Amino acid sequence: MDSDRRRFLGRCSGVVAGVAAPFALPQRAAPAPRTGTGTGTGTGTGTGHERFMWLAVEQARRNPRWPFGAVIVHTRTGEVLARGVNTGDDSPLLHGEVVAMNDYVRRQGNQGWADTTLYTTGEPCSMCMSAMAWADLRRVVWASSIDEIRRTDVIQIDLTARQVAASARSFYTPELLLGGVLADHTNHLFREARRLRERYPETETGTPSAEAS
Ligand SMILES: [Zn+2]
Repeated sequence: MDSDRRRFLGRCSGVVAGVAAPFALPQRAAPAPRTGTGTGTGTGTGTGHERFMWLAVEQARRNPRWPFGAVIVHTRTGEVLARGVNTGDDSPLLHGEVVAMNDYVRRQGNQGWADTTLYTTGEPCSMCMSAMAWADLRRVVWASSIDEIRRTDVIQIDLTARQVAASARSFYTPELLLGGVLADHTNHLFREARRLRERYPETETGTPSAEAS
């Protein structure tokens, strides 16, 4: 288990969270206002969500062995406010969502969370979903489900994001919990990551060797 956990935490040296400066996407890129929840399957609904998920995928590609990436955007304007990728080897807390939330605090301060939407390549684990509840970050969109990620030999705590959010209902009322956006793509990404880890189990740099393809 220690070995599995170490592998889950994943080495990703050289990865630096965040971007030089937030930038605004065209207004049309803003996610369409939504209420309710998604189905957790399929390839997503709405091009606005997909556009931002591609940015999360872009982050995930920075750690090909553990492709958990996230971005936080302003829900109304579509401005990208923060980014992050899993850097779990530096700290067990540094999942992609938490890295993005830390980046957000650095840039925006600890305020304004309710006006944001977080996009992440993997369904938030119980730690990350709890962090979003504590922050009152009410809109969360993910691609691959926890079950799908588990199938690629990534250990997971057996709680869905919705279960965690429901457990926080006394103080947390999410506006959007939507899964499955670009899941076909990210499921492939996670399967490729498993193959990479299996093929090169000793690689700890997060960068595939020249033979990896
Ligand atoms: Zn997490």
